[in-house]
Amino acid sequence: MFNITPISAFNDNYIWALASPDSNEVAVIDPGDADKVNQYLKKNGLQLSAILITHHHDDHTGGVNQLKAEHNATVYGPHNSPFEGLEVTLKQGDRVELFGQSLQVHEVPGHTLDHISYYLDGTQPQLFCGDTLFLAGCGRLFEGSAEQMHKAMEYFRSLPDITKIYCTHEYSLANLAFAAAVEPSSSTIQTATIQCNQLRQAGKPTLPTDIATEKQINPFLRYGETTVKQSAEQFSNTSLATEVAVFGAIREWKNSF
Ligand SMILES: [Zn+2]
Repeated sequence: MFNITPISAFNDNYIWALASPDSNEVAVIDPGDADKVNQYLKKNGLQLSAILITHHHDDHTGGVNQLKAEHNATVYGPHNSPFEGLEVTLKQGDRVELFGQSLQVHEVPGHTLDHISYYLDGTQPQLFCGDTLFLAGCGRLFEGSAEQMHKAMEYFRSLPDITKIYCTHEYSLANLAFAAAVEPSSSTIQTATIQCNQLRQAGKPTLPTDIATEKQINPFLRYGETTVKQSAEQFSNTSLATEVAVFGAIREWKNSF
């Protein structure tokens, strides 16, 4: 497993820094802001050797070219990305070897068409999922379809329950408010809201979350639950025959929540 630190950027982004266990090298995921990364490197005496991109959006790639120019870092990202500046392009099933460990690449289109996630297997699995999965939420469908995003959610559901999830935004409290509207009688969602509130009041990130927790609180992973289906049908005022339809209705509902 990697030793991981969040670097806060913009209003609510996290740039995750993955440290090598046996050198001063570090990799960053989705550096939208080069200055924040440089401050972090300087403060901790670290050397940037790799940049991993999950998708092309500016708040995830805006710092890449500056960092590449200033450091000897290799830039990895999706093979079908409109972002120019990648050096190693990745597709489904590829691996990124980093500090003696091997990250698995999975294509998870939906938020954008070029979206990929990075997964590290082991005794403490770790998932870097960009803007696909959030604590109690999922990314907006800017480019892809509900079918595609549902497929991504199926992949996340298939990962070990103990997998730590490193999302790229601090959206947890707003997401939990929506989750509570979908499942008003869930005490798990209420407990998670109290915990996240305490963390935010202490100025701490609510992340990482994990797969086991998300299976309990995240409406976008709970399309198979009767309670979620009933709420989705009430919102869309129609009967929803498939899990994809339930997922799509929940996504629509969140857009206007
Ligand atoms: Zn995005």
